[in-house]
Amino acid sequence: MDRARRLLREVYGYADFRPGQEPVVQTAFAGRDALVLMPTGGGKSLCYQLPAMAKEGVGIVVSPLIALMQDQVSALRQLGVKAAFLNSTLDYWERQEVEGALSRGALDLIYLAPERLLQAETLDFLRTVQVALIAIDEAHCVSQWGHDFRQDYLGLNVLADAFPGIPRMALTATADERTRKEIVARLALRRPASFVHGFDRPNIRYTVQAKNRPQTQLAAFLEEHRGEAGIVYCLSRRKVESTAATLREAGHDALPYHAGLPGHLRAANQARFLRDDGVVVVATIAFGMGIDKPDVRFVAHVDLPKSIEAYYQETGRAGRDDVAAEAWMIYGLQDVVRLRQMLDESEAPEEQRRIERAKLDKLLAWCEVTACRRAALLSHFGEDYPAPCGNCDICLDPPRTWDGTVAAQKLLSCVVRTGQRFGAAHVIDVLRGKATAKIEQHRHAGLSTYGIGDDLTEGQWRSVLRQLLVQGYVRADAHRYGALVLEPAARPLLRGEVTLKLREEIRTAKPKRARKTGPHDIEVAAADEPLWEAMRTLRKQLADDAGVPPYVVFHDATLKALIDAKPKSLEEMLALHGIGKAKLERYGDAFLALLASGTNTQEHDEP
Ligand code: ADP
Ligand code: ZN
Repeated sequence: MDRARRLLREVYGYADFRPGQEPVVQTAFAGRDALVLMPTGGGKSLCYQLPAMAKEGVGIVVSPLIALMQDQVSALRQLGVKAAFLNSTLDYWERQEVEGALSRGALDLIYLAPERLLQAETLDFLRTVQVALIAIDEAHCVSQWGHDFRQDYLGLNVLADAFPGIPRMALTATADERTRKEIVARLALRRPASFVHGFDRPNIRYTVQAKNRPQTQLAAFLEEHRGEAGIVYCLSRRKVESTAATLREAGHDALPYHAGLPGHLRAANQARFLRDDGVVVVATIAFGMGIDKPDVRFVAHVDLPKSIEAYYQETGRAGRDDVAAEAWMIYGLQDVVRLRQMLDESEAPEEQRRIERAKLDKLLAWCEVTACRRAALLSHFGEDYPAPCGNCDICLDPPRTWDGTVAAQKLLSCVVRTGQRFGAAHVIDVLRGKATAKIEQHRHAGLSTYGIGDDLTEGQWRSVLRQLLVQGYVRADAHRYGALVLEPAARPLLRGEVTLKLREEIRTAKPKRARKTGPHDIEVAAADEPLWEAMRTLRKQLADDAGVPPYVVFHDATLKALIDAKPKSLEEMLALHGIGKAKLERYGDAFLALLASGTNTQEHDEP
């Protein structure tokens, strides 16, 4: 383990293990199989990279996405680690070279996609080299219940017999009890040590707001994050395109990403996101798996995700570098109606629809919580969190509740009086005593409930109805154009046998800026601003020269450490966070020169 600690310092430039890493590394040293569940950004990769470097032989890493292997490998090479990948992008000679290096025992890590690893000739070849361990990343892909299922992962159980006695480590960020069991069984792990680390991501601030004018709301949110990298999730391809266009007009470096785009465009947009500072990707859920860019500052949802699990996974892409980040979502009555309708109309088998419906309902209930959002999120994953967290919308600005019994009764009776045949808009018009053509046509102005609701605004009524839908007092009938229909729970409420507490509308005020208040903030003093910018420019130049993303050169936190410490020598630099030997050798002089010259970057451009 001393060896491991030394590598941690020398290779990565980290002073200490993150919580949970050390015991996993120990297990790998002990040669035992392991199941590792750690939140995104928790630092899973190091758990297998370190032992692979320290032990004799090569570490085999199974990773689902060919597109990202190259980035992972070039990041490792920047650290001075002997890493390579084997996939279809290599030509014959490149493959020969990698295989030669493997035969000579000259590699610490080799990355492969499962389909490549499982080819008979690959297995035969790998059996001839010394293997230190096998790491299976994104192990939940083996679960048929999850949303990332991959057929190829099912074949990975053969590794148990193909490499007897070699420890295997399965890693994932998303796995409930059932998926965990599935992983162990399907990968044929032998009595694995199980490491289930907490799910909390303390540096992520959660905010959910009522959707009223989505474009304006998104624009205001992004204004708070101008120049920062982030992801905006939308439900449909069309909306991805239009939102990206709007953001570009507003001067954001925004790019679309969805499965309908030609492959080369998708790849180009993803590469821009990884390589340039401050790119916003507007995407469907097709985007994100395996993206390990550490400095994503926000993830915004302008449409609801499918489930809390999906939400957690998508928002988990923010703030891997431990610096303050935001998860921001807007949702409204329309989303509730539409998503339920989509489920009702789906062709999926009854059982699956029931599961998806339950998942959606849990997410909706979470949107409407009145106590700490983080605690509610974690409790969904079976974790007790001592609320309040002080870093979610509810903790920062607790919503008031009000006695909504009478309002609910008015709304429900209006649904009954109009014959349970109309959707939200019309029912609210009747309540508010509007004079519309539809009201005239159906003579609804004569109803006893006409105009009894003019004490609330339309927005307030939508909020009441949304909560009634979420809490199951009423539903929107998919087969009749979203007509509102009472559920059995509505009866006692109408009869006044129960009362109903509703939450006041989620405030749409500007969120307090996370960067300025978060516990994990990178704050640069005004006087250091020019130096900060100069460092980022230098980092970008060096990154472009090396053909890697800027964060692979140094994380923001390392730039900040450089600014704070203003080291005068390479030895002083080596003590800083994120600076190991290889990075020092490559970049130490350039940054020292920049620090010595104050903010004058010009000299680096001169021949
Ligand atoms: P995961 O795969 O769990 O999502 P990564 O392995 O990509 O997370 O690690 C997330 C980030 O945390 C990386 O940028 C990594 O360099 C950093 N990191 C990992 N371990 C440590 C550590 N012990 N100290 C400081 N930073 C770390
Ligand atoms: Zn909270």
